[in-house]
Amino acid sequence: MYALGVLPEPGDAATFGPFALRFQRCSWCSSSVFGGRSLCPNCAGEDLMWECSQGMGRIQDYLRRPRKGQLPLLYPLITLDEGFRVTGRLTTGTPPWPGTRVRFEYCTAGAIPVFSPYTEPAGSPRHP
Ligand SMILES: [Zn+2]
Repeated sequence: MYALGVLPEPGDAATFGPFALRFQRCSWCSSSVFGGRSLCPNCAGEDLMWECSQGMGRIQDYLRRPRKGQLPLLYPLITLDEGFRVTGRLTTGTPPWPGTRVRFEYCTAGAIPVFSPYTEPAGSPRHP
């Protein structure tokens, strides 16, 4: 069971690699969907095609899980360049500010995507 819509399914590893970050794209409205849906949440289309994310995204915000007597756990909410959002983990101990560019690194055994902060090479076009 890969609830997050991440690999593998039979045969997928050959196409996308064993730890790819996969999503579905609706062939009717082009929405990107994460989580292995059977219907598009935007238009209820049934024609969802699997694609493989390039793995680049931006930290949108953090979900905070309070803990008694300790600092809250922070789970980053990441918007991938393809337009879908995931919650995941970061490789860094110190959470970067929202807006920081991140790159997908790998999935944990529990199919949780892990990201690392990414600094764009100097001279590359900046995203808004
Ligand atoms: Zn759709």
